[in-house]
Amino acid sequence: MSQTIRAAFPALSRPGFHYLDNAAMAQIPGLVSEAIASLNRVARSNVRRGLHEAALRADEAYDSARATVGRFLNAPAEEVVFTGGCTLALNMAAWGLGRKLGPGDEVALSRLEHHSACLPWMSLAEDRGFAIRWLPVTHEGRLDLDHLGAIVTPCCKVVAVTHASNVTGAVSDLPRLAEAAHGVGARLVVDGAQMVPHGRVDPRSLGADLYAFSGHKAYGPTGIGVLWGRAEVLQSMTPMVVGGGMVDAVGDDDVTWADPPHRFEAGTPPVAQAVGLAAALDWMMSLDGQEIHQQEAALTWHLLDGLGSMAGVKIVGPRGLEARVPVVSFTVEGCHPHDLAHLLAERGVAVRGGAHCARPLMAALGLEEGTLRASLAPYSDRSDVEALLVGLAEAVKVLR
Ligand code: PLP
Repeated sequence: MSQTIRAAFPALSRPGFHYLDNAAMAQIPGLVSEAIASLNRVARSNVRRGLHEAALRADEAYDSARATVGRFLNAPAEEVVFTGGCTLALNMAAWGLGRKLGPGDEVALSRLEHHSACLPWMSLAEDRGFAIRWLPVTHEGRLDLDHLGAIVTPCCKVVAVTHASNVTGAVSDLPRLAEAAHGVGARLVVDGAQMVPHGRVDPRSLGADLYAFSGHKAYGPTGIGVLWGRAEVLQSMTPMVVGGGMVDAVGDDDVTWADPPHRFEAGTPPVAQAVGLAAALDWMMSLDGQEIHQQEAALTWHLLDGLGSMAGVKIVGPRGLEARVPVVSFTVEGCHPHDLAHLLAERGVAVRGGAHCARPLMAALGLEEGTLRASLAPYSDRSDVEALLVGLAEAVKVLR
């Protein structure tokens, strides 16, 4: 199956190219590029403003893209907000829910968070005077939920967690987190950037109140992200970014915000990117999700097994396949992750070395130099994993 999928991605036809940096950015199928090009050919216009033919076509394409994202998330289109990326979506979530918090309030964050998910809350906390409580991680790089009751108390107004870690690949137990959050009247905000690329997600049924993800990690273009929210939660939020196209009325002293999702889409939205993302999600929905899951799991196992048998290699994250995405981090004794990434790149293997924008996690695990990370996608195959394992053995020989 990976070969049929691979053929749909023009960048992967380069001989000797082993792309294992999917957690940073996935490759893009030809049909996504074509969907964007086609929009620009026949419907390049601003949306929700014009009455000419191109404008009406653009409106239709943009609305249809929103409906497709809704289908992917099993949600109504009105609950889908297009943003410039996951970082912006997470900042909007923090602003929308955190702006009115103050001394005495608490926000629970996990130590697994990407900086895009924790910094918006940390900078707002400094400004507004509410407290941050940190959910710890286990030595395996999973959320340690044994302390949930002690951290998520009636002072807690928001629990913000990642769905899947961009470092360890561990998947969080959202229903349990939602139960704890909702039990004290708090909202659950979820960063889905690393989960969405591996299959459809139903954030409402998992208990999320807000759920964010990126387009470029989900086989779509750059410059697009999504903030999904329960209708009543979005309705309760004020927008972080204001401007054209998101108000119903503007008086001398007062403003009436438009209803969501438009309230959160000030200015010209990323129309072509939204259409591209919809094409990417449509493509994902056309695949057999179960088969993709099994294929990615088999390859992850091959990778974990291969790494596990190399001297001095330590997996940073779950050693098994349960509740994880195919994002595998590891360290190699005596070798800096950046040196390894560099030597692997010379052998055509693209991986990422460093802290992965997750300093709180690196500190908790005592990994100041960070890790080397290999991340898989539905088009990854055994040749990619083999190239990594062989390249790594050679690189280690060079460095030791
Ligand atoms: N959250 C996680 C878990 C990520 O891995 C990333 C990107 O690496 C982000 C958020 C930020 O996403 P974006 O680059 O779309 O802003």
